[in-house]
Amino acid sequence: MHTAHMISLYKKGKERTLAEGTRRYAKKKRGYGSSRKPIQKRFVKVTKKQALKVTCKKCGHQYQRIGIRLKRLEVT
Ligand SMILES: [Zn+2]
Repeated sequence: MHTAHMISLYKKGKERTLAEGTRRYAKKKRGYGSSRKPIQKRFVKVTKKQALKVTCKKCGHQYQRIGIRLKRLEVT
């Protein structure tokens, strides 16, 4: 059954400092030596694929929809 849904733009959340991956990365980066992962400086693509956050108005269920590459996105 279809219900009304609310659409908003997905935004990346804050990274948890105590998460296993973050701790491992911080440990590796400590001291002398280079970065564990290369830092990308040049990008071929100018735009990013925008994800939409879809929330059910009735039960609050959320899911995401990966969008297409857009230069400008307006959520009304
Ligand atoms: Zn629902």
